[in-house]
Amino acid sequence: MKSLVINCSKDYNLGTEKITAWLKRNGHQVTKSKPGNTEFVGYDKVFLSAIYTWDLPILVKEAQKAINHTKVEIGGPAASVMPDYIFTETGIKSVFGLDDRFDLEPARYLSAYTSRGCIRNCEFCSVPIVEGKLREIPDFTPASYILDANILACSKSHIEKACEKLSSLPFVDFLHGLDARLLESWQVELFLKKLQMVVWRFTFDSLRHEAELKNALRILKHYGIKPKEKMIVYCLYGFKDTPKDAYERAKQVISLGAHPYAMRFQPMDALAKDRHIPDGWDANSLIEFGEFCNKPTLAWLYSLLRQYSKFLKSSSNSVCL
Ligand code: SF4
Repeated sequence: MKSLVINCSKDYNLGTEKITAWLKRNGHQVTKSKPGNTEFVGYDKVFLSAIYTWDLPILVKEAQKAINHTKVEIGGPAASVMPDYIFTETGIKSVFGLDDRFDLEPARYLSAYTSRGCIRNCEFCSVPIVEGKLREIPDFTPASYILDANILACSKSHIEKACEKLSSLPFVDFLHGLDARLLESWQVELFLKKLQMVVWRFTFDSLRHEAELKNALRILKHYGIKPKEKMIVYCLYGFKDTPKDAYERAKQVISLGAHPYAMRFQPMDALAKDRHIPDGWDANSLIEFGEFCNKPTLAWLYSLLRQYSKFLKSSSNSVCL
């Protein structure tokens, strides 16, 4: 069988990596590709995936072309969020949520999940839709970038076992951030003992969580971790806030010594990125706030990550920002 796997997003797509490994193990001849430069003739099946909903128009175009030549399967997080859009545009029923055929497929990946889902249900987040309730994955394949939505919500025994599995890696980065509300001293102690932590990432999406963020910082400082050297704080903006509120959060992060990283809110069904203008904001203020936070933070983060460049160079993909 000849299969074509297309990642319709620019970022590293763990799903397409897993399906590729799974297909190969099952004897398929697999070609990986990007959208737009593909001939579909000669393939028995084409697998299409996108991480973000704003990549779905590209995915749909690929599917519409491919469907005339071969079988087409569509999956990935974006398709799980907008299955009706996919079906209307292509007539294809996409795979919803996690795919048991290959979710645990072992191979060498850049990223991994030690758990799926979340204990919370934040209005702006697609994790509860795509991944559902929190569950631990004891037999995950270790990789440096951990994509868990909320690893600190896992049981102590799971976190301990996960750290043991990750302990031999050159570095570990909890890319989606740690929930400051759940951080406890034993977790920091364990991470420091077992893992080469690149950076500590937290979230500060509302001024309501200021006390919890300060408490997380206090714990890190107790263990000698300097926010200026190691800490990044994601600040969601454009969701039920105002520029004043967003700047206040960012300035608080800076005054605490850490680095704010602005995450612009995108509606769950956005078919184009950065088009949504929320109440209280305009196009310029949205861009200005992003630049205020991210220009200095990215400069700092790049310099920090340079020490890990050997590992990053060994891959054609980057998921680190
Ligand atoms: S805590 Fe994070 S992962 Fe969980 S629902 Fe809220 S934003 Fe999503």
